[in-house]
Parts: sequence; structure tokens; C-alpha cells
Amino acid sequence: MNWLTNFVRPKLRALVARKEAPENLWLKCPKCEQMLFMRDWEANQEVCTHCGHHMRIRPLKRLPHLFDEGKYELHPLPRVTTDPLKFRDTERYEARLKKAQAKAEGATDALVVASGLMGNRMTVIAALDFGFMGGSMGTAVGEGLVMAAELAVARKAPLIVFSASGGARMQEGILSLMQLTRTTIAVRKVKEAGLPYIVVLTDPTTGGVSASFAMLGDIHLAEPDAIIGFAGPRVIQDTIRQELPEGFQRSEYLLEHGMVDAVVHRHKLRETLIRVITLLMDPLVVESVAAG
Ligand SMILES: [Zn+2]
Repeated sequence: MNWLTNFVRPKLRALVARKEAPENLWLKCPKCEQMLFMRDWEANQEVCTHCGHHMRIRPLKRLPHLFDEGKYELHPLPRVTTDPLKFRDTERYEARLKKAQAKAEGATDALVVASGLMGNRMTVIAALDFGFMGGSMGTAVGEGLVMAAELAVARKAPLIVFSASGGARMQEGILSLMQLTRTTIAVRKVKEAGLPYIVVLTDPTTGGVSASFAMLGDIHLAEPDAIIGFAGPRVIQDTIRQELPEGFQRSEYLLEHGMVDAVVHRHKLRETLIRVITLLMDPLVVESVAAG
């Protein structure tokens, strides 16, 4: 037995581990199916270097590309009662949460709130994380968005939201739905303070999030080819019994139909956001730059 555990098992592990290492260096683009070298892909902000497909990037990977010199302050989400319903499906909700947290590099739920300078102006960003239980909105996300709005008002800063969500957090039942109204009120506070509220819609923005704060921006930007909608296409097709048009619920389709103001490549987001905020907050500065 000793020989098996001390000698054979480590040998087997080493064999398996050696196989895994090179695989981790490459990934396949889900759109064009080309192989991408992990390091190039990360340096390219997780956009396919062959076809330009925008993959779902997690907030902590995105934020450094937005703030001046990549510097920002993270604001921990307010503590909330976890698992108020003691919910259990195939797994306990608490266990699911812990698993998601373990992979979230210190984030406690599906929202990351950060503040810092953008174009030399204090800005607050709240970014949803699809990698954390599908970016679903429970009490913690709602509470985090309220905090982000209050922070923006206190600092007289614009609020930018990056949306990416499958909708409400089923495991929190009605409490999850209550976040729709709470986040709507939070956004209104920013607007009442005369501060810009900008939404960047990313793949995918659906369900309760698209039915609340993600559709209330003064300006809506979207990443290319992102799915944006309330219910999925199959549900709609079955309800209205009609074929849906080509490109339905994609950024470009929504731009054509007036739901989105601009579709912006991930590499251009920072400069576009700075320009939009400057236009909204200091229109004279933009005019003088344009004239000069
Ligand atoms: Zn590709």
C-alpha cells in the first residue's frame, strides 16, 4: 500500500499535471475557433487576436485598462445576510457562494465597485461579474450598486456601470427581485445630483438587470456582438410564434433600433468614456479642444 501511495500516485499525478500545463497556455476562440496564445489574448484585453471576438472579461481584469495609469481603489461590498432563505437546489446556496468566492480573487459577490481617476476626473465604476454565478443580482449586488451610487454622489463623480448578467439570483427569491426597484432608485439619486450615469452593456446583459439599472443610462455604450435583452430568443419565439430577425438582441441590432448609442471596441472604451463624460460635465472644454 505504501509503495502505491508514496510512489505510484505521485508519478501518476506528475503525468497528469505535465499534460495540463501546455493546455493552459492556449485557448480556442469560441467564434472563429482559432487557437489563441493565452498571453497574447490577455494582453489584448481578452479580445480574439484573429477575429476580434470580445470574450467575457472579469471586472478585475478590465478595471486596470480603464483608470488613469491603471490605478484605482476597490470598495468592498456591504455585508448582507447570506442565504436568507436557506435555499438548496442540487447544492446548498451557501456552498455555491463559497465556490464562486474562491474563484473571484477577493470579490465577495457578482459586483465589483471601484473609484479612481479617469481622464484626471474622479469616477466611480460598478462592474458586474458574469463569472460569479452568472452575474446574478441578489441582495449583495443590489446593496453594492446603492453604495456605488452614493459614493458617486458624495464625490461628485460620474457613475459608470458595466453590465453582464443572467438576471435575478434565483436562490434569494423575492429579495432578489426587490433589487430591481432599489437599484433604480439608486440610479435616480445620481441623476438628481446632476451627475452622468453611463452604462456599458457587455455580453450577456439579460433578465432583471436589463429590466432595471442597465437600461437607465444617460448614454448606453455596448461592446460588439453582445447579447442584450430581457428574455431569451427561444422564449420570445415560442410566445409570439414568429421567426426572429437576424442579429436579434445583439449590440449592433440594438444600435440600429435606438436602444444603444454606440457600439465600442473594448480597446476604445476608456477614451470613449472619457470623451462622453467630458461632454456631459464640461461641454466647453470639448468645444475649445475641437476648435483648437
Ligand atoms: Zn476569434
